[in-house]
Amino acid sequence: MDANFLTRRRFLKTIGLSVALLARPRIGFGASRDRRRPNILYIMSDDHAAHAISAYGSRLAKVAPTPNIDRLAKEGILLENVFCTNSICTPSRATILTGQYSQTNGVLDLGGHLDPENQHLPRLMKQAGYTTAMIGKWHLKKEPAAFEYYCVLPGQGKYFNPVLRKKGKPWPKNEVKYTGHSSDVITDRSLEWLKGRDKTRPFFLMHHFKAPHDMFENAPRFDSFLEDVDVPEPESLWRQPTYGSEATKGMGTSISPRNHRRNMGKHMKVDPSLPYKEYTHQAYQRYLKRYLRCVKGVDENVGRLLEYLEQEGIFDNTIIMYTSDQGMMLGEHDYIDKRWMYEESLRMPFLVRYPKMIKAGGRSDEIINTPDCAPTSLELAGARTPDYMQGRSFAPVLAGKTPPDWPKSTYYRYWMHMAHHDNPAHFGVRTRHFKLIFFYARNYKPRGPKPTQPGWELYDMKNDPHEMNNIYSDPKYAKVVKELKVELLRLRKKYKETDENYPNIQKVIDEYWDK
Ligand code: CA
Repeated sequence: MDANFLTRRRFLKTIGLSVALLARPRIGFGASRDRRRPNILYIMSDDHAAHAISAYGSRLAKVAPTPNIDRLAKEGILLENVFCTNSICTPSRATILTGQYSQTNGVLDLGGHLDPENQHLPRLMKQAGYTTAMIGKWHLKKEPAAFEYYCVLPGQGKYFNPVLRKKGKPWPKNEVKYTGHSSDVITDRSLEWLKGRDKTRPFFLMHHFKAPHDMFENAPRFDSFLEDVDVPEPESLWRQPTYGSEATKGMGTSISPRNHRRNMGKHMKVDPSLPYKEYTHQAYQRYLKRYLRCVKGVDENVGRLLEYLEQEGIFDNTIIMYTSDQGMMLGEHDYIDKRWMYEESLRMPFLVRYPKMIKAGGRSDEIINTPDCAPTSLELAGARTPDYMQGRSFAPVLAGKTPPDWPKSTYYRYWMHMAHHDNPAHFGVRTRHFKLIFFYARNYKPRGPKPTQPGWELYDMKNDPHEMNNIYSDPKYAKVVKELKVELLRLRKKYKETDENYPNIQKVIDEYWDK
């Protein structure tokens, strides 16, 4: 018996799965064994911020409740500190599918892709005896061939009457057109697959909504939702006393007319002759209403999936996870979009229901990152996490048995300097108490957008959760800064996220490290 076997045996015991499962050969599983192993339904939406889920509690919880997603929190666990390591669609999905940080999986930005041989999670789940499917938004360009079945949107896909590429004919010509709103269509496809699946094996289904990604279009039945409501605004939309640094002054796409090139008012066709305050107010209201109507459609469709599992009698034997590929700025600091290491963009929702292992109504503030997702699914399936994965399974956290050496910090990096939404490139470290961000403000490609002013920011997340005060230069925090820089270097080394291959970035790191 190797050490891995013993660790897994101890863990499976704690979650109530039979130890005998592991003693059997890893191939040729009997049907009786597979009926006892849990199914895994991994539901992921696109750009769904945790603070737009009522279970997380926020200014939006009252006006835009999400009862079906909340049910997972009520009957399962809500994770408060799940962060992405690269807050943008394609790279974040790559970290989830590979269990690796961006430089290791090679997907640094939206131009990246994931070849079938690097689609580790579905390949390993299949090897573990699972029937696997990927349905909905994929966004990793290459054929999701490591899944037994797939039916995915090409690229971003369309909100209405979407075309989906379906397993069968050769990729990418295997397109089929469907009628309806994408959230409904994707759920219909998942239900179709679930009903016709190979029931002798447990399933692993990745069900990915396109909503509530930008160019928000809701199903017509939600047109009047929030019509007469004034959506609460974040304080930081209007007042940011000592927020930000030289590096971020004037950056980022705004709600208000502040960013002339790109702002939500322009996007939502607000009358440009309106005074600043009224323009900003209208832009925010239109943005949030459209976004929350898309969320409503996601929540309703989550309800359809839960209902199916109940009817099929497999509700309690299915581990149901709900998450997003990152967070989203919903007007905080007068920002839209993601990309930032600021909290609303960095934090992801993560809720899990599995009554055989998880106590109802639980909450955990353990620090988790996207590369931890693949090892977690593998462990829950009774499979080993290979050494080439850098993440760590948080299945013990779900079971309320966090190991004493669980990480106390997490690493973040955004590469796409000044692309699309005018965000300078940056990296940083987040602990439960503090967040340190270094805006190195350079593109990693020699011909990218011009460098901007580098700078450091430090936020006290306990006493200033909305990040209103950058305390980097406050002498009271000199020791904290020093310690966090040591930790940041440690994480960069550990996850192979250093800049040896990017001398233009290393130069500015060296120059500004002690400033
Ligand atoms: Ca996204």
